[in-house]
Amino acid sequence: MIVEDLAEFASKKFGQNFLKNDYYLQKIVQAMPNDNLKVAEIGPGLGDLTKELVKTRNVTAFEVDKRLCEHLTAEFEEPIRQGNFELRCGDVLERWESGNLLDEPYHLVANLPYYIATNIILKAFRDERCRSILVMVQKEVAVKFAAAAKQKEFSALSVLAGSVGKATLCFEVEREAFVPPPNVTSAVLLIEKDRSRDDEKFETFLKVAFSQPRKKLSKNLMSAFSKDIVDQTFANLDLDPNLRPHEAETSLYHHLYNELKDNLDGKQQTKQRKLSKSRAKNSKR
Ligand code: SAM
Repeated sequence: MIVEDLAEFASKKFGQNFLKNDYYLQKIVQAMPNDNLKVAEIGPGLGDLTKELVKTRNVTAFEVDKRLCEHLTAEFEEPIRQGNFELRCGDVLERWESGNLLDEPYHLVANLPYYIATNIILKAFRDERCRSILVMVQKEVAVKFAAAAKQKEFSALSVLAGSVGKATLCFEVEREAFVPPPNVTSAVLLIEKDRSRDDEKFETFLKVAFSQPRKKLSKNLMSAFSKDIVDQTFANLDLDPNLRPHEAETSLYHHLYNELKDNLDGKQQTKQRKLSKSRAKNSKR
């Protein structure tokens, strides 16, 4: 496929910003874990990163854009024939609906479409076959995943990353390295997983805990749990009631969650019970 004007060809809908810079392509490959596990690439696009990956790895790639699927099938005819490369056309998120992305352990490597980057990373956290995640994302997102407790960027995403392994912001990439250039600075993020976590309730709990990041953690929690329960839990764990969300370590969030999880929705349940009682009273009249 000959593309006269790449910027014109690129689909905004699919978050297409093609990485056209050898220096950064090499840097990504060098940051990969040093083993022989299979690689899953999400959004191979025109195949620039894929070309580097298939030199040393067995790659399965997921691409949603039919125009690119046609191009990749022709471009990678040889590695496909040799069994080093497999292309799966379609929405990668749908693949995850039916279980693991691949049926063997793998590393995820990608220049991600930014509109679903966080969602993809969270899916990879839950997929126990995924051993590491090396991805280009918006710098702001990389900072949130990689922040350490007490830094002001420490967020629910940092806690989730810390709950499956270790997150590192490897390096930044300037806008000019892409065609077309994105509106934001990018960064490559590495998350080395040592376990997986598939607990939606914990994610909901973190959303509550960080709902107002600059307010007190206890106040945030009181939007989902009764004041008595929050006060009691803070006393049990010997916590400062003035603690802010970014000041608590990942392990502390797990302790808090374990203490509180049976009461998650408790406040809503109480409200619901009161509402049902008053409805029952009214219907008797
Ligand atoms: N890897 C190429 C590169 O580095 O130049 C392209 C990266 S571009 C930022 C994102 C790629 O993800 C595009 O090829 C786009 O079509 C693809 N994509 C977007 N949404 C997708 C989805 N839901 N499932 C699979 N691929 C998707």
